[in-house]
Amino acid sequence: MEADIKDVTNIPLSPSMQSDRIVWHFSDDGHYSVKTAYKLASSLTLDETHKVDGNWRVLWRMDVPPKVRHFLWRAARNNLPTKENLLSRGLTVGGECPICRSGYENTWHIFFACPFAETCWRTSNLFPHVDSITARSDSFTQALTRVLDDKNVNRKANVGMILWQIWRDRNTVVWKEVFPNPAKSVDSALGRSDWLSARQPTEGCSSSSSPTARCLGWHTLPTGSILCSVDAAFFED
Ligand SMILES: [Zn+2]
Repeated sequence: MEADIKDVTNIPLSPSMQSDRIVWHFSDDGHYSVKTAYKLASSLTLDETHKVDGNWRVLWRMDVPPKVRHFLWRAARNNLPTKENLLSRGLTVGGECPICRSGYENTWHIFFACPFAETCWRTSNLFPHVDSITARSDSFTQALTRVLDDKNVNRKANVGMILWQIWRDRNTVVWKEVFPNPAKSVDSALGRSDWLSARQPTEGCSSSSSPTARCLGWHTLPTGSILCSVDAAFFED
């Protein structure tokens, strides 16, 4: 304590007597910038509480649209606005599942325990696979890691698509009060027509074209043309 007092009283005061001001320690001029904040954030080690166990790199390689991968990542981190999560953040909402009106809505219920979800899994013939996973899992995240560990990439993609469709249907009930038909939901999820058609080789592309050219249907542009490629995603929640 005495040593602290001595250190503090020995700090030389500025002769210019400037007023105190707030400065950002991580830039040369003391001003905050997104660039310096990003560098700071990148250098910080993630806290253990923010880590989610599992080999998540396989999630980003799944053969599903990017919006579905993103949805699965949010679900894995329990970051979907389920009633349980909204209640935990202090929002005044009921905890009732909007589809069956009987269960408590959390990720486990919505995707596995809800009668609507179970009907979807049975309709898709994926029920034995999903049932064996949930029987061995204590949480949604654990079940999802087992889904991702599936060596059958097509089955893994189909499970991901149905999870995504169930969430879409749940949102449709919440926002439009339109109740889903399980058979139509499964057809919609497994058809993946937009995704599959977008990945078909376009007419005139030879097999010697690069994979990128074959997938996206790129072709030589007239001299002087400019190609602008963009990407976008929509989320219904
Ligand atoms: Zn339910």
